[in-house]
Amino acid sequence: MNGRRRTLLLGGAALPWLAGCERGVAGIPGGWIGIDAGRGHALRDGRLARAPVGDAKRCAVAIVGAGVAGLAAARALAQAGVDDFRLFEIEDRAGGNARAHAMGGMRCPLGAHYLPLPGPEAREVAELLHALGIARQELGRTVYDERQLCHAPQERVFVPDPQPGVRGAGRWHEGLLPLDGAAPSTLAQLRRFADELRELQRTLSFTVPTQRSRWSPGLAALDAQSFAAWLDARAYDDPLLRAYLDYCCRDDYGAGLGLVSAWAGVHYFASRHGFRAPGDETAADASDGVLTWPEGNAHLTERLAEGLGERLRSGVVATRIETGRHEVALEIWDARTARAERWTARRLIVCAPLFVARRLIDAPPAALADLLPRLSYAPWLVSNLQLREPLLDRPGPAPAWDNVIAGSAALGYVDAMHQSLRPVPGPTVLTHYWALGGQSLPDLRASRAQLLDKPWEGWRDAVLADLVQAHPDLPGKVERMDSMRYGHAMLVPTPGLRGDPALAALARPQGRLHFAHADLSAHSVFEEAYTCGTLAGTAAAAP
Ligand SMILES: Cc1cc2nc3c(=O)[nH]c(=O)nc-3n(C[C@H](O)[C@H](O)[C@H](O)COP(=O)(O)OP(=O)(O)OC[C@H]3O[C@@H](n4cnc5c(N)ncnc54)[C@H](O)[C@@H]3O)c2cc1C
Repeated sequence: MNGRRRTLLLGGAALPWLAGCERGVAGIPGGWIGIDAGRGHALRDGRLARAPVGDAKRCAVAIVGAGVAGLAAARALAQAGVDDFRLFEIEDRAGGNARAHAMGGMRCPLGAHYLPLPGPEAREVAELLHALGIARQELGRTVYDERQLCHAPQERVFVPDPQPGVRGAGRWHEGLLPLDGAAPSTLAQLRRFADELRELQRTLSFTVPTQRSRWSPGLAALDAQSFAAWLDARAYDDPLLRAYLDYCCRDDYGAGLGLVSAWAGVHYFASRHGFRAPGDETAADASDGVLTWPEGNAHLTERLAEGLGERLRSGVVATRIETGRHEVALEIWDARTARAERWTARRLIVCAPLFVARRLIDAPPAALADLLPRLSYAPWLVSNLQLREPLLDRPGPAPAWDNVIAGSAALGYVDAMHQSLRPVPGPTVLTHYWALGGQSLPDLRASRAQLLDKPWEGWRDAVLADLVQAHPDLPGKVERMDSMRYGHAMLVPTPGLRGDPALAALARPQGRLHFAHADLSAHSVFEEAYTCGTLAGTAAAAP
């Protein structure tokens, strides 16, 4: 952990700008919101195991977890004509990592905030976007609703201090790689990296969803090593390139290039738009676009949850799953009534993360028991800052949807009002993202402990200390800050995980049990969760 990161993690106590802020940062109200960690931890500690009251209830299919995968499974069941299902969700609202918040009447994301336009293999996602009216066919082409495509400018990066190989400190730069005045050796490495990626894209199979990739010895070789080791072996040592690739890994996988596999590092680019080196005039094509909404991907999960009625039971903790020859039994604990219930079903789809699934199932499939020691989840902090007026801007390109600070341990922020068509900027909500997986497993564990133990005020100061590098006027304009902490936000694709046969085994039905969660692909994105949820729902609909 470098010195700069340590300063940020320790919070703002030593930061001079604290003293300069008019009302004092300590006056900025807010707190923790979102996940009720108490319910999850009560399950972990066995404090919810109470005797079910009354007779067992029955449904054809039970689903545990109403994130993207659980909601997709429910949709697939309904489409296959199976209406007798129940969806049990521990939180008070469906959506999982794709839920929303609101501040000052403005909606904002609590987690997932965008969806890249689906590629040819993401058929299920494409079908959903058509069904929701977000995409349509026109003269044989897919056309997306322009109001939901991210408006330009999409991204920019602020360089706070002089950095090796970068000119233009104290200003914003277009895109995420600040290349002004980059040394010829930097540009040469970027071009070499782009060429190598193009070759990998040509020879190996990288798709989203990943289950449609042809697994091969080439992919297995990438999967066997860390991305950092792969880069080292090829002498990619340019600080600008390394910092950018590390940012990409933290952004997509929650951990840095020391912890994720080379398969993951390459997949990030190769499965979507590739890597464009400076001077590469290949026009950005339509597939570079992303869909986004003020409330993030909750725009999709809220529509998926519409119409579920009483079949969606939120505020309900699944506590135990017992598989039998003829049926599956599920015990739940309802937080509203503080009572336990027992349900039986023909089939059960587990759409909770795999580490939770392992705790719930009495006799877990061997593949799940095998995998557990190899699963590492990245902690994340997401903070929404309500601003009463627009920020003063620094030189460089105009405010974008995604605004990143070079050299920061965090990931920058998105602006919830970016998609609004208002003629002049006004109050808004900025959503600040901080992936805390670090570069090693000890890093990851220490960050999780810190995330859970450090008081909200300490994190507030750390988030403000990060943002103030680009926006010195920000603390004086924050009305309120609400933060959400995810102890186990996403499964990190550590070396060996993607190619682990146990992961592939769990994607297939295990007797009366089905598994569906982004964990199954070791890549936590909407397309992965939605596809495996749809496939599991379709399979579970079979008599
Ligand atoms: C901060 C953050 C930002 C992200 N940004 C993006 C993005 O911009 N775009 C993108 O595509 N992806 C993003 N992701 C990834 C996101 O996780 C996936 O896109 C997707 O939402 C995962 O869905 P899921 O259904 O697989 O998992 P989850 O969202 O984890 O859903 C699992 C559900 O199971 C429930 N559950 C757990 N235990 C129990 C229990 N015992 N009983 C009942 N219910 C239970 C949980 O509460 C949850 O609702 C982001 C993730 C995070 C954390």
